[in-house]
Amino acid sequence: MNDILPDVSGTWRYLETVVRDIVQSYGYSEIRLPLLERTELFRRSIGEVTDIVEKEMYTFLDRNDESLTLRPEATAGVVRAGITNGLLHNQRQKLWTTGPMFRYEKPQKGRYRQFYQFDVEALGFEGPDIDAELIIMCARMWRALGISKLKLEINSLGTAESRTQYRDILIEYFSSVKSQLDEDSIRRLEQNPLRILDSKNPEMQAVVEAAPVMIDYLDEESSKHFQELRSLLDAAGVAYTVNPRLVRGLDYYSRTVFEWVTDALGSQGAVCSGGRYDGLVEKLGGRATPAIGWAMGIERFVALYEACGGKAPATDADVYIVAVGDGALEQAFAIAEELRDKVADIRVEVNLGGGSFKSQLKRADKSNAEYALILGEQEIAQKCVGLKPLRSTEDQSSIAFETLAETLAGLLRKA
Ligand code: ATP
Ligand code: MG
Repeated sequence: MNDILPDVSGTWRYLETVVRDIVQSYGYSEIRLPLLERTELFRRSIGEVTDIVEKEMYTFLDRNDESLTLRPEATAGVVRAGITNGLLHNQRQKLWTTGPMFRYEKPQKGRYRQFYQFDVEALGFEGPDIDAELIIMCARMWRALGISKLKLEINSLGTAESRTQYRDILIEYFSSVKSQLDEDSIRRLEQNPLRILDSKNPEMQAVVEAAPVMIDYLDEESSKHFQELRSLLDAAGVAYTVNPRLVRGLDYYSRTVFEWVTDALGSQGAVCSGGRYDGLVEKLGGRATPAIGWAMGIERFVALYEACGGKAPATDADVYIVAVGDGALEQAFAIAEELRDKVADIRVEVNLGGGSFKSQLKRADKSNAEYALILGEQEIAQKCVGLKPLRSTEDQSSIAFETLAETLAGLLRKA
């Protein structure tokens, strides 16, 4: 679990803001959810025989002996909230949420035990139009941020019904190569053979690669859905490859699944992953509701943004007010408030804790501010401030109180 320190939090905040503004521009509204849910919710939605439920959940009993789990992902909570709050009765919902997720994984670069996701869910939409729009929306985010090192992979998992037939075919195949399966896969063979395809064990890769693929066993409707998605993406100019091996690690997916992957971050290449989960609302006790969503891992997103040369706008102070002598601090506070009132987006720091001119100017320099505003007894008597550029060799000048806001507005706009 990581602390997100001030030297990186600015980039996080910037990226989160850009993404939020984009999804809101597509008509999505925020939903804020608890970090804790009943364990049962995740067992039922993600699936008993999955890595997350079997190995990765932070589960504990509360004081009332109820089993609770720190959420490993957001979709289950969104669906639970939609059902318990009646958001899905004859309504469609386009929602986004963000926050920490918890998985007891082996920590390594790009893989943490508390990590953050930005999550988007559309409930009540059958697609494939919404499937395409969700992907087009991702493409807009990458464009807006200059992120180029991402590739889109898509696949279709068909419906629950068409998967039953495929399940039998998989069992047959994996049984024929049983001696090459690892312990987990042997256990999963009968219970959930699809999960074998999601194995992260490198020694299993050859066996998995040779397995039959779902896309060859799609039902007609799913096949049509997938074709339509493809032509909508083609028309929108969003490039993709069909990866028939993309299955995703949660049981609730159906039909469209997709992943934006990069090779710029080492082995943790999945940055943003999603899919359709048409059966989930009903499975969790709601009325049958088609749905689709994606989740982006913010740590990997930040790392990729930086790997593509991205740099968030600076959030350092614009001006630092140096105040020495009788009445100077009072005047500094008054000027700072006035500037915050009058100059759009200005960032003003007042020197706190006193000190000599020299030590205050040192702090001003360290703050990375563009200008120091200097207030001494002489300035106060003359109702002006000294304006000292800190990032150039220009001389200090004297600006009257009345024209200070206007002067700074002009100077900072230019900078
Ligand atoms: P992976 O294949 O890397 O394990 P996943 O399929 O388990 O990913 P999802 O459950 O689809 O991931 O979660 C969506 C996104 O959240 C991923 O694409 C990834 O960017 C991010 N993510 C998942 N697990 C972690 C983690 N432990 N640490 C950091 N980011 C993660
Ligand atoms: Mg995982």
